Amino acid sequence: MISDKMFKTIVSCTTTPILIAQPIFEDKNIITDFAVIYVNEACKKLTSITEDSNSTFSKSLTSLSPSINWTKFGTEAVTDKKNIQHNFYSPKANMWISVSFNYIDDKHLKLTFLNITESKEHEQILRRQNMSLTALSEELAASKQALKNKLEKIEQLNRKLEHHAYYDALTGLPNRDRIATDLEEAINSAKMKDKKFGLMVIDIDDLKTVNDSRGHNYGDDILKETGRILKEFERENIHPYRFGGDEFIVVVNPIESKNSMVTIADTILEALNAEKIFVSAGISFFPDDTDQSAELLRYADMAMYEVKKQGKNNVFFFQQLMQEKFLAQLGLETKLSNAINSDSFQLFYQPQVDITKKELRGFEALLRWYDSELGWISPEKFIPLAEESREIIPLGAWILNAACETLAEWKSKFNFDGIMSVNVSPVQLKHPTFLFDLNSVINKYNIDPKNLEIEVTEGVVIDNIEDTVNILSHIKNMGIGVSLDDFGTGYSSLSYLQILPLTTLKIDKSFIANITSRNSIEAEITDAIISLVTKMGLDTIAEGVENANQLEVLKQIKCRNMQGFLTGKPMSKNDCEKMLSGDYSVIQKNGEDDI
Ligand code: C2E
Ligand code: CA
Ligand code: CA
Repeated sequence: MISDKMFKTIVSCTTTPILIAQPIFEDKNIITDFAVIYVNEACKKLTSITEDSNSTFSKSLTSLSPSINWTKFGTEAVTDKKNIQHNFYSPKANMWISVSFNYIDDKHLKLTFLNITESKEHEQILRRQNMSLTALSEELAASKQALKNKLEKIEQLNRKLEHHAYYDALTGLPNRDRIATDLEEAINSAKMKDKKFGLMVIDIDDLKTVNDSRGHNYGDDILKETGRILKEFERENIHPYRFGGDEFIVVVNPIESKNSMVTIADTILEALNAEKIFVSAGISFFPDDTDQSAELLRYADMAMYEVKKQGKNNVFFFQQLMQEKFLAQLGLETKLSNAINSDSFQLFYQPQVDITKKELRGFEALLRWYDSELGWISPEKFIPLAEESREIIPLGAWILNAACETLAEWKSKFNFDGIMSVNVSPVQLKHPTFLFDLNSVINKYNIDPKNLEIEVTEGVVIDNIEDTVNILSHIKNMGIGVSLDDFGTGYSSLSYLQILPLTTLKIDKSFIANITSRNSIEAEITDAIISLVTKMGLDTIAEGVENANQLEVLKQIKCRNMQGFLTGKPMSKNDCEKMLSGDYSVIQKNGEDDI
């Protein structure tokens, strides 16, 4: 038989922490806590309970660790006369401890503390899970931030694009695209409020001569100075613009009378003359002269030309007589409709070059019109007229046919397998027979659709984007390329790039012109756009590349193709054929010098 003393010694020496406690009753039945009456050595170490000189223990179970509900488990064991085991996590020991509550008798409860080694593993798994959750949420937060940054960048780019599209880089004044939208707004609000406004076109006299004799930089300085002076006149009702080249526009909206317009015009001319800048100016009035924006511009222009004719540096109002004289003199519209029926039109072709492969990508077909009286007329002048009169529909059909005929001819003669790019005006594209005509011409010349590309401008989305998307998708599905021309001019928005079914993006020459200057915003935008659209799988072409420095920047920003005077001006079909048979001297000859 083991004596009590021996038994006590054994318990005292065992490495398992053991504690004996006695229930403390509030009244007869309710246990509120347990008083510690014995702890062995191992338990002393674990709990830091000590015994005083009278061999009494000062602690109760609750004071041992208040976060553990000792009373609940202890009471259960004592009242139900059974053993209970429960696991607790001890943050202090950083481990899980299993506590066994053993019923001894109504007055004695034994607690045995066991380390649970597996539970440490448990803990580690939990901790690992916790850590990977934290990492995941950090990663999520980071990618959310990256997405936000990307969106901000795109928005920023859109704002820059809008600024580029609507403001002139040289003078900082709003440009001709801006005036187009502003004029429509001015007309609508003037109509509603029953007000008048005036539009003045200002053209610098002899800037071309100055440019030729004193250089472009000097010419640029005059333009900048003109812009600066006009900006000084800017008020709530006075809005200056740079229309392009050496033309500026000032809109005075509203204005009471022609007399107040004369006063403003005279003061502007005086201010310019004081800086030795001489200009011819013409004024048109809304609604007296017309209520159409295009006509307001045209009429002010006519008045300005009248000033030029009569000795320059002055300002005239538009008069009806002028328009009649002008139209009779020019007869452009009649000439245009006659020209369509004769053979005064010709297509020229400008090479497009693949920058990385250093080979020909293809050609862009560009229309030329020669009139025996007026000489060569720029497409920029007559295409808008042809669009207005809808002559562009038969003319466009002629262009498409001629370009495809040439493409087929070059395929059989030179095995040419490049791209023929054809400009299609919005009016032409939206004509109900366009897709049918396109299909017939392809069949007629047995064209491989991959060799054909049509170029449209952002103007195609103006009135009905859904229609445009349908037509363009159809063209793309036929296997024909769809190229967005002059990107970055008018209604530029990156969102169009996502909506329109495109295969190619042509960056407008206004970007390329400024791409080499230091800290060029154009270079920055071009870079961003090219990387964006290349990722979208689009081909890219930089337009208006005139020198090797520009090409160098384009190489750096990975623009795939280029087109411009550097690799050849638009050339006659004949010259192109010489080039295709290996005679590159036609490129040096610079194609159009002879016209
Ligand atoms: P676009 O489609 O942007 O054509 C490119 C214009 O840039 C051409 O003017 C071309 O001669 C000119 N260009 C090419 N390389 C350079 C360069 O390095 N520097 C500079 N400063 N200019 C360069 P172009 O032939 O006078 O045509 C003017 C516009 O008329 C065309 O602009 C296009 O919008 C329209 N156009 C021309 N042909 C057609 C046509 O067949 N159909 C339609 N709908 N429009 C046409
Ligand atoms: Ca074009
Ligand atoms: Ca273009």
